[in-house]
Amino acid sequence: MNLYDSLNRPLRDLRISVTDRCNFRCVYCMPKEVFGADYEYLHRNQILTFEEITRLAKIFSKHGVKKIRLTGGEPLIRKGIVDLVAMLASISDLDLTLTTNGSLLSKLALPLKTAGLKRVTVSLDSLDDEIFKAMNDVDYPVAKVIEGMDAAASVGLTPIKVNMVVKRGVNEQSILPMARFFREKGYILRFIEYMDVGHSNGWRMDDVVSSKEIISIINQEMPIEPVDPNYQGEVAERWQYKDGSGEVGFISSVTQAFCGTCNRARLSAEGSLYTCLFAIKGHDFKELLRSGATDDEISEKISQVWHKRADRYSEIRSENTIPLPKVEMSHIGG
Ligand code: SAM
Ligand code: SF4
Ligand code: SF4
Repeated sequence: MNLYDSLNRPLRDLRISVTDRCNFRCVYCMPKEVFGADYEYLHRNQILTFEEITRLAKIFSKHGVKKIRLTGGEPLIRKGIVDLVAMLASISDLDLTLTTNGSLLSKLALPLKTAGLKRVTVSLDSLDDEIFKAMNDVDYPVAKVIEGMDAAASVGLTPIKVNMVVKRGVNEQSILPMARFFREKGYILRFIEYMDVGHSNGWRMDDVVSSKEIISIINQEMPIEPVDPNYQGEVAERWQYKDGSGEVGFISSVTQAFCGTCNRARLSAEGSLYTCLFAIKGHDFKELLRSGATDDEISEKISQVWHKRADRYSEIRSENTIPLPKVEMSHIGG
């Protein structure tokens, strides 16, 4: 049965975070000062098992979910991730994708494809090692991430999408080199406005480089024009190079909110369901799963949560928003 929330938005897209851990420390997501050596991550028994995730995913698909994206933390560091992909791939009529920092992709691209993954999105903020390091705060060569993307492309996890978060004063100079490089490669580069997710990245409006600004930078060298969305509720606004050499995307969650068509739910690694990326609190499903609830009871709780949903954080955000203890991005994924 299809579900609609209080603003008449359907439930279509489920993002599942499979771990709260990551081998990178991106300054906009898991800054070292907060996610340091003594940070307490979830213990093994606190995170959902593959069986629990798959059971929930099946119930969600009966409620109209058509797309599942695995995320994190870094999803590829969860032990046995390929097995989870195989379990989820057995659900019919589902677009199964994954977002990764690419560090383990060279090794895992083929097994993931064989297990039934359809596509991948790889995050990369610069082609320059120094600037990449200023964004992810670890020493990891850009070349290795590109190797991972190429491995994914060669096994058919396509189209490859590349996520680039732009932070003013850190990686703006990488906008054009990234656009040139990925146009040439035929991968779809998507620019993401730096968002005020969580409460530890010290977000300031001044650090946001708007999509409008990025479009104008690209346009001066490589003229682009807007294209119709692939489907209703698509997060990235699509633009194409006027000479027909490919497309780029813009995720403008700060300057052009798209809450009106938001059909996404997010399941954290510990089994809490969040109805907005900027939610303060989730709805616990782990307890329900582990207390012997039937599929019907779980299904009923999903309906109740979605029917009540009224989130539209980005639409009401303002520069003066008083910071609230929102959930961290690494907890529920992007
Ligand atoms: N570790 C994986 C990765 O980096 O692709 C998956 C999880 S990560 C939280 C998902 C996406 O969220 C990445 O593309 C990342 O760049 C983006 N992201 C994280 N923090 C962000 C922020 N503050 N603003 C905008 N995008 C952010
Ligand atoms: Fe890790 Fe992804 Fe967050 Fe970077 S954006 S710290 S790679 S979870
Ligand atoms: Fe959806 Fe919340 Fe983002 Fe609005 S702010 S688009 S409701 S996740």
